[in-house]
Amino acid sequence: MRLCAGVYPEHSRRSVKKSYFCPMIKANDPSLKSWIEVDPKSDFPIQNLPFGIFKTQSSSPRIGVAIGDQVLDLAILNKLGFFNNLHIDNSVFTNQYLNDFIALGNNTCRNVRQRISDLLNADHAELRDNKEAQAKALQYISNVQMQLPVKIGDYTDFYSSMDHAINIGTMIRDPKNALLSNWKHLPVGYHGRASSIIVSGTNFHRPKGQTLPADQAGKPANEVQPVFGPSKLLDFELETAFIIGKETQLGDSITTANADDHIFGMVLFNDWSARDIQTWEYVPLGPFLSKNFASTISPWIVTLDALEPFRVEGYKQDPKVLPYLQYEGNKNIDINLEVFIQPENGEETIVSHSNYKFMYWNMEQQLAHHTVNGCNMNIGDMLASGTISGPTPESFGSMMEITWRGTKPLKLKDGSERKFINDNDTVIIRGYSEKDGVRIGFGECKAMVLPAKS
Ligand code: MN
Repeated sequence: MRLCAGVYPEHSRRSVKKSYFCPMIKANDPSLKSWIEVDPKSDFPIQNLPFGIFKTQSSSPRIGVAIGDQVLDLAILNKLGFFNNLHIDNSVFTNQYLNDFIALGNNTCRNVRQRISDLLNADHAELRDNKEAQAKALQYISNVQMQLPVKIGDYTDFYSSMDHAINIGTMIRDPKNALLSNWKHLPVGYHGRASSIIVSGTNFHRPKGQTLPADQAGKPANEVQPVFGPSKLLDFELETAFIIGKETQLGDSITTANADDHIFGMVLFNDWSARDIQTWEYVPLGPFLSKNFASTISPWIVTLDALEPFRVEGYKQDPKVLPYLQYEGNKNIDINLEVFIQPENGEETIVSHSNYKFMYWNMEQQLAHHTVNGCNMNIGDMLASGTISGPTPESFGSMMEITWRGTKPLKLKDGSERKFINDNDTVIIRGYSEKDGVRIGFGECKAMVLPAKS
């Protein structure tokens, strides 16, 4: 059951008010102010309160919540008794991952977020006037090390942006027939690899693999000779991912109407892709080694609750989808997404400005589809959107599309050109929703590509 289902102004997808505030989620109230000073450009105002795992030189991994440029240590707060009414064992807060916390259920997680909102509220004296507790429980984010927030059991990647699918289909097949016949009937996806999902700030080596030299494309099977070496066409994919917050049993299906109850929150996601390896290997079972060498996520999980005020209408789905994929209300979310490339010791250049609202298939449909056959979901499973491109070239979500397969190189601020990603380039994804003076951001999803291992 959706938290705010009863209070939306209108369930018709055609006449939804642009702006509304869900009165049941008190912590989202735009008028809230914290006693901690938060820069208006910060991703982490009191209305956000995303969850993550951090450690310091002197402390083991634990759950933190971001507020401005600081992190609130929930293990310390619980130990000091600030969550006494919620009766949560402290081991939940000192785990290496958020899974056990998420397993407490949406209601408890929501109550914790509400309690933190109260403790940080400028009108509440409890923590505001307790300097001793503040000194123990607050650290600057710049002084802590963010960890992978969840133990990811399974990872799925969808292909749900129509503009992206049309771009790729146009490039590699036929502009008149860019979308394959299944595309508008189901959210296409594939099972990815969880072991190589890394947290922002973790650098990785350029992948090596088999590729087919361009002059051999289209030759008969008995005449081709692939080569082995570092990928020459390394790309990013601008994506988001959502994290499963409530498990299901084998055989169970999730409906679009109850999907939100199974989603804990979202992160930014870079699905690094080696296009030359992909082109050679993907037939007939889809991507394999071209995708599973690394995927980068942002460290803070922004709760679905915090994103609720930014829900917007999605694309009209035509042809009409099968009943199990139909949904009510606004299921897309207005999240600005930006990609930057930073050469070694150089300046950042923005190369894409897209938006999560450009998704053709929404998370609720993806989850309904994923489980319609009885596939079970576990807490911590990660489901990524697929590359999110918008309708204009400025909003394309991969180098493949931005440079149109390398035929239109882009210029960085330092004058250098890129067709794909060079060694020692850092790619940074940033994302935020903004409305009514509130900016709900995700922080950074960032990694540098090191030269291939010799
Ligand atoms: Mn992808």
